Amino acid sequence: NFLARSRYRLAAHTPAQLPPDIGYEVAFAGRSNAGKSSALNAMCQQNALARVSKTPGRTQQLVFFQVEPYEDRHLVDLPGYGYAKVPKDLQAHWQAFIAGYFARREALRGLVVVMDIRHPLRDYDRQMLGYAVERGLPAHVLLTKADKLGRGGSGNVLLQVRRDLQQAYGDTVSVQTFSALHKLGIEEACGVVNGWLGL
Ligand code: GDP
Repeated sequence: NFLARSRYRLAAHTPAQLPPDIGYEVAFAGRSNAGKSSALNAMCQQNALARVSKTPGRTQQLVFFQVEPYEDRHLVDLPGYGYAKVPKDLQAHWQAFIAGYFARREALRGLVVVMDIRHPLRDYDRQMLGYAVERGLPAHVLLTKADKLGRGGSGNVLLQVRRDLQQAYGDTVSVQTFSALHKLGIEEACGVVNGWLGL
């Protein structure tokens, strides 16, 4: 698993702070508390990798993890959305930054959207999927915390969500169940991301 060699590189709060727009990167999005950090840590086989994204002051930054030894392969953690408490002007800045990143970033090859399997496809999730699909980029949905529902329950949600995504976005968005806790679906998720990174 190439992703196990991921290391923190930098955090960008403005477009000027982004690393050079070369190579391949895959962005991770999700509502706060959906389980995105846990999913990233599980996929990268590290306990604390994504903790850096959660430190105060980093909640509105794009956090870049470099997949070593490659200097031009990155995972990009888009900190959790869905906090209404963020001041309006900050929210506007953030929205514009994200929209511009999705619209113009050449290195971006795909988007992973992490959703709590008990609350899939909320407004913000659809907004992020929309950004990717508008650019012609593929997206992959992780329905995480599948351990909370058991086999039958998570299987049913998977089918529903897959049908919904197919209707809304056609074949550009795929979906799977996942559990960081039970280490479920990690190989499948890593396969998708590695493919997008050209690894
Ligand atoms: P983030 O805010 O999206 O980065 O979410 P975190 O990864 O910090 O997880 C939020 C909460 O959900 C934490 O209490 C985690 O322990 C819990 N959690 C994350 N992944 C799983 C999972 O696969 N199964 C279960 N049962 N809990 C999880």
